[in-house]
Amino acid sequence: MNKFIFVSGGVCSSLGKGVAASSLGALLEGRGLNVRMVKCDPYINVDAGTMSPYQHGEVYVTDDGAETDLDLGNYARFTSGRLSKANSITTGQVYDSVIRKEREGRYLGRCVQVIPHITDEIKSRILAVAREDADTDVVIVEIGGTVGDIESIPFLEAARQLIHEAGRTNAISVHLTLIPEVAGGELKTKPTQHSVKAMQEMGIQPDVLICRAPVMLDEATRRKIALFTNVESDAVFTSYNVDTTIYEIPLIFFDQKLDQVVLKRLGVESRHANLTPWYSMMERFASRKGKVRIGIVGKYMDLHDAYKSVYEALFHAGLECGVEVELVKIDSARLEEADDPATVLGSVAGDPSAPAGVDGVLVPGGFGQRGINGMVKAAAWARQTKAPYFGICLGMQIMVIDWGRNVLGWKDADSTEFDQDTKHPVISLLEDQVDVKDYGGTMRLGHSLAVGEPGTHILAAYGEKKIDERHRHRYEFSNKYRAEMTESGLRIAAKTGDGSLVECVEWPDHPWGLGVQFHPEFKSKPTAAGPLFRDFIAAVRDRKGIV
Ligand code: GLN
Repeated sequence: MNKFIFVSGGVCSSLGKGVAASSLGALLEGRGLNVRMVKCDPYINVDAGTMSPYQHGEVYVTDDGAETDLDLGNYARFTSGRLSKANSITTGQVYDSVIRKEREGRYLGRCVQVIPHITDEIKSRILAVAREDADTDVVIVEIGGTVGDIESIPFLEAARQLIHEAGRTNAISVHLTLIPEVAGGELKTKPTQHSVKAMQEMGIQPDVLICRAPVMLDEATRRKIALFTNVESDAVFTSYNVDTTIYEIPLIFFDQKLDQVVLKRLGVESRHANLTPWYSMMERFASRKGKVRIGIVGKYMDLHDAYKSVYEALFHAGLECGVEVELVKIDSARLEEADDPATVLGSVAGDPSAPAGVDGVLVPGGFGQRGINGMVKAAAWARQTKAPYFGICLGMQIMVIDWGRNVLGWKDADSTEFDQDTKHPVISLLEDQVDVKDYGGTMRLGHSLAVGEPGTHILAAYGEKKIDERHRHRYEFSNKYRAEMTESGLRIAAKTGDGSLVECVEWPDHPWGLGVQFHPEFKSKPTAAGPLFRDFIAAVRDRKGIV
């Protein structure tokens, strides 16, 4: 029998529901349970693939090529259960399949309604995840949005029905709220009381409350909340502000016995908790020495979430390399205007008068022409000054464009994504993609194998020839230029198994200059950094002489 935990949120958004749900998942895994995570997103988009990173943050990609909400990235960093298309449920998908079934006549002439048809579709998708693997013990379902939103009603109603059908010992509700502080430092519980009332109006009595507060709530406050909400006072927890890292949150919840209370409510025999990987991670966090400054040169710099997994992976790499990684976010447009890239890269962002800045450069993924020439300048600067450089997807394509323009002397070398008419399309669509018009139809998505060449940084990083990472891109290194590129020194360090596509290029005579066509950030974890991030930061650290 599977157990279900529905995680909802109230009062306001951005309380860290994803991190709370993931942390609970980590604790249950620490107790030896097999946990699967599901995100329900109330938006009408079928998936996150078409959403702007400016508005919605990064698109997280699963092994099977689903373009999902970035919360799945949190799940992947905190827990180890498989994540696929099935783990991201959106209103768009639910309506899409209900309407399809209606058109096929599968509702046998009945009037198709939100209840029961939409809610049944939601339930069957959640149950499908539960049944996917026979050994799944617990499914944690995070419901996006805030209780009271019109959009989340069908998801909460589906949760209510599932809790009712499974029985209260098999399905529980965990509700996250905010305890604000008003002038004078007083903590206010009223919004939490109202939020629980809103849940009760939906027919759901929360079993566990996680209160986001500036500090740990005292016993009296917890009792007061319990009294007003019908939640036991031992089931009122605090997610207080941490000044360490979000990865400490599982341990903070563990200290408050969140996992014990949840397991008791679900009638699961308490097993011994093993949180060693999390404790050792925090030890590595505390013992970091020295700092490296990484310039991230991209175009979505204002929204931290736009490159979320990349930033997290850099942090993971710092833990493994024993250094703090400072992110220096550089809008590539600034480099475009600069005559000498050193005036930007060599200075703290926004403060051109500050002394020498970045120790390494990372160019992340991206789409569209804006800012490209600034990125090429950043790559050329790193190549010439021998600063470690890490190019991801677009960042690898930028390395190839720089090589074409500045080493081979083809001033118009470009990707056909940015200049259709260039005489030197060093990055282009594959022949068979050129006529595909449907947006997304030509996208290479999901995991595939790359094979590393002997004597390369990429092979050293992974330690084995076969490299399994995920893709999300349309353009490729143009094979027409392979000979000229390699003869002039650019190293093709990894290819697809059949050799047809270039997966990695490396600079010759350079401490660490590497670009990959895939996205290694999606599989990096705080307890095990992505190998390329680790070696990039190690190269930066060593070049800086930090021991
Ligand atoms: N725009 C490039 C392409 O489609 C790179 C995509 C990316 O960086 N994810 O190939």
